Amino acid sequence: MEALLNRPVLVLNRLWQAVSVCTVRRAFSLLYLGQAQVVDASTGEFQTLDFGAWHDFSQFHEGAEHEFVRSVNFRIRVPQIIVLMMFDRLPKKDVKLTRNNIFERDHHTCQYCGVRFDRKDLNIDHVVPRDKGGKTTWDNVVCSCIPCNTRKGNHLTHEIGMKPLTKPKKPKLRTFLNIHVSNVPHDSWKHFLDVAYWNVELSD
Ligand SMILES: [Zn+2]
Repeated sequence: MEALLNRPVLVLNRLWQAVSVCTVRRAFSLLYLGQAQVVDASTGEFQTLDFGAWHDFSQFHEGAEHEFVRSVNFRIRVPQIIVLMMFDRLPKKDVKLTRNNIFERDHHTCQYCGVRFDRKDLNIDHVVPRDKGGKTTWDNVVCSCIPCNTRKGNHLTHEIGMKPLTKPKKPKLRTFLNIHVSNVPHDSWKHFLDVAYWNVELSD
């Protein structure tokens, strides 16, 4: 029972986009509070059921392939997917390339001298300078203090021996940080998990 309650349940937002994974225990609590509904695919098409409907549905769809949480006079099937009723949060597909986000990614630390500065004392440095074809993209901009920025000028890293401490790249998506799924436990999930999307967004 305990193990069953800790199984993963896929969580969809109101646009039916996969946003996270919670435990069966958490899913039941959201269902009971009316904050989520079950998305069931076992009849061949997707249907949503609230707690009461899911309880009733559970009575008539026994099936050895399904798992139940039982008590003396109560039996309810373990959901595989729920859809949130309350939250409209969308998965953030892109972290915007802004000064603040670059500073935050680089922890307000100059990527050349390694010293942490106040925002006002930091600049954005183009690793490959703009006048040498460098673009303003996540993988070509770093946080730099003003002296380092001036020293580097429009040199290429190898010309002046100044290399960013961390290779710049696009930051990971915060929305997905707490999802750790190494495999897909239920076929019913697959519809919602474009595999490429899933892999690309989660990996570094
Ligand atoms: Zn510096």
